[in-house]
Amino acid sequence: MTTKKDFHGATVECVQGDIANQLDMDAVVNAANAELRIGGGVAGAIHRAAGPGLEEECRPLAPIDPGQAVITGAHNLPNRHVIHCLGPVYGVDKPADQLLAACYRNALQLAEQNGLRAVAFPAISTGAFGYPLEPAARIALNTVIEQLQPLNSVRHVRFVLFSSADQRVYAQILEETAG
Ligand code: ADP
Repeated sequence: MTTKKDFHGATVECVQGDIANQLDMDAVVNAANAELRIGGGVAGAIHRAAGPGLEEECRPLAPIDPGQAVITGAHNLPNRHVIHCLGPVYGVDKPADQLLAACYRNALQLAEQNGLRAVAFPAISTGAFGYPLEPAARIALNTVIEQLQPLNSVRHVRFVLFSSADQRVYAQILEETAG
């Protein structure tokens, strides 16, 4: 199973794990809610690990729209920054595929603007927001691989999947994608 591949001199990998425990990444991406508040899933894990200072820093940046991304400090997380993305609610925010792709594009652009090298993403929208995993994984991988080429700073993207079943779906798509 392919878990790591090089594209345009950058590494794309998919691992099973916890987005709030990525020690070697410059930024982790939050599958945020519009209000940028602590919630369930990824947002809960990130805000719990970061501490209350993160919500405080987020307050003046909220609300955000589907597809949008904003960047903050990482507070007590072991990273430099958190990039908060609002994914589409499946069946409600449309076109879902374009809004989801915009999350990954906008997050990478913020990482590049801030001179970050390594960024970890969760599977945005595939939990509470109901986006089916496989199409969401294809959009995530294709958008990131396409966007990496013109970037200078971002050289390592890690997808962190909570379950090993989800990780296998990503690994299969990565294997099928030409490097
Ligand atoms: P959304 O509201 O965008 O759907 P969720 O946080 O509900 O976001 O879920 C997004 C994905 O992240 C789901 O596939 C879920 O299983 C996964 N997930 C939940 N907690 C974590 C975590 N701590 N680390 C990585 N992935 C997680």
